[in-house]
Amino acid sequence: MSAYGPLCTEFYDNDKPFAPADAVEYYAQRAFGAGGRVLEPMCGSGRFLLPLLRSGIEVEGVDDASAMLEACRRHAAKDKLNPVLYKQSIEALALPWRYQMAFVPSITVNALPTMHGICHCTNCKRRTGSAFGISAYFDRATVVSRTGETTVYAFHHAPQNHDQERHFCPKCGTTLFWYVSALPEAIGIAGGCFADDNLPNPTYSVTDKKRETWLTLPSNWKIYPD
Ligand SMILES: [Zn+2]
Repeated sequence: MSAYGPLCTEFYDNDKPFAPADAVEYYAQRAFGAGGRVLEPMCGSGRFLLPLLRSGIEVEGVDDASAMLEACRRHAAKDKLNPVLYKQSIEALALPWRYQMAFVPSITVNALPTMHGICHCTNCKRRTGSAFGISAYFDRATVVSRTGETTVYAFHHAPQNHDQERHFCPKCGTTLFWYVSALPEAIGIAGGCFADDNLPNPTYSVTDKKRETWLTLPSNWKIYPD
């Protein structure tokens, strides 16, 4: 992110100096399996890239924030590493190689959602900029990996009297997942954000009294007016 200047970089580095070990391990295994050159788009100051390099993976990074790349080189120098880094925007990549694998940090679950529905509340409409939100709730224990940076928007959701902690992508603003105090075992993941398109159909509609009048739902869905 070119918006990451020196101050942001310093803050980011202090705030998030190390990637979660299980996430690094996950990418390392995938990278060894891919058996070739690996690319990390939006590598930032190298919290994933550097541990992967240290474990012998041929990983290169790209980011369009000079300050982040400089910080990455500084961290690397402490370990006598010399990472291959490109200052480019991911919207216009022009790299000299083809890569066996590229990874952008994300969240991965290994089970079906325990609840999956749509919500028509004002918050969901604003969050998505659309007519409703799609919420797929999973047991938190089924989260296999959660990597990468999110920015948190926390607030009290008065109509349902619970606290919400929403995590969105600091680059594009998309809400990715959230935690709700009323569901302490669950993580909500935005239904439109899955890389796989085989998420089961939603089964209920909540805050249905605020549903757009033009929207008709399947007759077998459960309807909750509030
Ligand atoms: Zn809602």
